Amino acid sequence: MVEPMVRLILLGPPGAGKGTQAARLSTELAIPHVSTGVILRDAAAEGTKLGLKAKEIMDAGRLVSDDIMLGIIRDRLAHTDCADGFILDGFPRTIPQAEALDRLLAEVDAPPVVLANLELGEDELRQRIETRRSADQRSDDSEDTMLRRFQVYQEQTRPLLDYYGERVAAIEGRGSIDDVYRRLSTALREMTSKEPTG
Ligand code: AMP
Repeated sequence: MVEPMVRLILLGPPGAGKGTQAARLSTELAIPHVSTGVILRDAAAEGTKLGLKAKEIMDAGRLVSDDIMLGIIRDRLAHTDCADGFILDGFPRTIPQAEALDRLLAEVDAPPVVLANLELGEDELRQRIETRRSADQRSDDSEDTMLRRFQVYQEQTRPLLDYYGERVAAIEGRGSIDDVYRRLSTALREMTSKEPTG
């Protein structure tokens, strides 16, 4: 049986587990995990001009400009490895990014993207970020930056749920990594089997 092509946008607040779930799905489905946060952190580690500028913005818990992000995502999705599907994690994060992504995806002849939102209450999100802080040493997981990131999420990213409306599958983000993964894969199977192929 030929598996349907998966082009997934994974939404959710900071700390909901998008990165963990996307990485696992990416291995399972053999399609790239495109994380804009990882792309920016790699650029920062390499010390490129863009990376250093992005690091300042990330450490302040703010968003890198839509123009820069669009350039990054346009280049990344044009790679041949994205031709058979991808998982987007951390993009789009604003309505203009979503509108631009719609235009970009309309340029290629492929099945529509599917969307899933990892849902988790604020207390659990804080808990997860606390845990990640000690494990990953991400410089944008400090208390102040975390608060700012939640605020930015509420103001600029959460409205995407209204933008995409009923197309978004709500995934309960509580429980173990395995629990969430099971829910996400089930939802994904349902969504991709409903989508027209071609
Ligand atoms: P993440 O790893 O997805 O939590 O992203 C870490 C940081 O990278 C964010 O807090 C932003 O500063 C920046 N970033 C990642 N993706 C985007 C995006 N799509 N638009 C703007 N900034 C982004």
